[in-house]
Amino acid sequence: MPSVLAKLRELEVATRPEHPDLTAALAKRWEELPDHVKTPNQMLGRRTAGCEGTHGVFPRCNLACTPCYHSRDANRVRTDGEHTAREVDRQMALLRAERGPGQNAQLIGGEVTLLEPDDHAAALEAMHRHGRKPMSMTHGDFDYDYLEALALDPVNGEPRFSHLSFAGHFDSMMYGRRGIKAPPDEASLNPHRAAFCEMFQRLERDHGVTHYLAHNMTVTPANIDQVPQVIRDCRDMGFRMFSFQPAAFIGNTNRWKHSYREFSTDEVWRQVEQGAGARLHFNAFQIGDVRCNRTAYGAYSGERYIPLLDEDDERDARVLASFLAAFGGMDFVARPAVLGARLARGLARHPRGLLTAAGWARRFASRGGGVRALRAEPPRAITYVMHAFMDAEKVKPAWALLERGEISEDPGIRETQERLKACSYAMAHPDTGELVPACAQHSVLDPFENQRLQEDLPLMELPMATA
Ligand code: SF4
Repeated sequence: MPSVLAKLRELEVATRPEHPDLTAALAKRWEELPDHVKTPNQMLGRRTAGCEGTHGVFPRCNLACTPCYHSRDANRVRTDGEHTAREVDRQMALLRAERGPGQNAQLIGGEVTLLEPDDHAAALEAMHRHGRKPMSMTHGDFDYDYLEALALDPVNGEPRFSHLSFAGHFDSMMYGRRGIKAPPDEASLNPHRAAFCEMFQRLERDHGVTHYLAHNMTVTPANIDQVPQVIRDCRDMGFRMFSFQPAAFIGNTNRWKHSYREFSTDEVWRQVEQGAGARLHFNAFQIGDVRCNRTAYGAYSGERYIPLLDEDDERDARVLASFLAAFGGMDFVARPAVLGARLARGLARHPRGLLTAAGWARRFASRGGGVRALRAEPPRAITYVMHAFMDAEKVKPAWALLERGEISEDPGIRETQERLKACSYAMAHPDTGELVPACAQHSVLDPFENQRLQEDLPLMELPMATA
């Protein structure tokens, strides 16, 4: 039985704005960041230690994408629930030790729904156990029965998760989807996007399991001009985040189909803004290096888009500074009593936060057309993201030099090194204790890993999509 003192200590830690392990992890992360990203709007090392993803836990996929970021051998590896559960557990344990609790982690690799529902559930449970906030990354080509079996305990039929986060990847460069093997354009996928959202809405109606859905889309010269319409068509389907990945020459070389460097990331962002119907203030917050990531937080009240913070307004920059001073990396997902205590303790260490928050609330309401307009059409949060992976031909030499502690003389490779050092998306290697940027994982490490996995987990049937 824990003593009263131990209980009190536990309560004291639980009601701190930041868990002490997270405070230490954030300080370390900040210390390691290159100077060029240590800007006042930088969230790494202040609000988050970074996003995380699994690797080598279920490499296989049953669609064929162009491009595909996974190595050619990925589809020769058997999907095996025991392997997945064991490796997810090991990788998450390292991330918990290095990055503290409460960080967002993607259950990613090949196609997650090739796992049996119970194996998928076991992987999510392992992630929760290690203090991660998991999101399952899928192509979305699965049925309600699968989702229900994932969400419910097979023994008693009760929900085993109160909430599920999924990212559905939908774009016209994905081949083999049931009902639309080769989509002629983005619009033809809209019924599939809607069906994906409807499954989660039904799960909530039937069983009370809530959800957070993101929409992922690879952008190439073939679909860049369709980005605005995708956003317009899908904004009200139920997605809370739209994430765009300009295609990169990374992963399976057989799947490189277009000249991906025909347009700049600025051009992609312009298309996203066109679809959003507003300027998107990605400079208000930065996560890692701006050449890798842009994130715009905001909300719609009816058709009107309201940025969470205006990047041109100094007062909003002060609100962000105040928020970080009060709450830092605080996890706002907690029981009401714990959340209340955390908020009170955060404000106690930075009381001026209350004043700046009041000013921000007034400005937000006025940008939204006034309190009456916001009451009539309550704001719905939507986040727009762009994540630009790098080409393998640059990542390989850049990573090799970084591993030796050397900085390249070549400006292009040096830029790649700067981005890798400021990486916001890490994958864990429990054997070496290393955390590796996803670009390096896909460009350098995946091929070896999948060759080894192919021997450990050989296919028992013919591969489905090996091109
Ligand atoms: S280094 Fe690569 S994986 Fe990391 S944030 Fe940049 S693009 Fe993403």
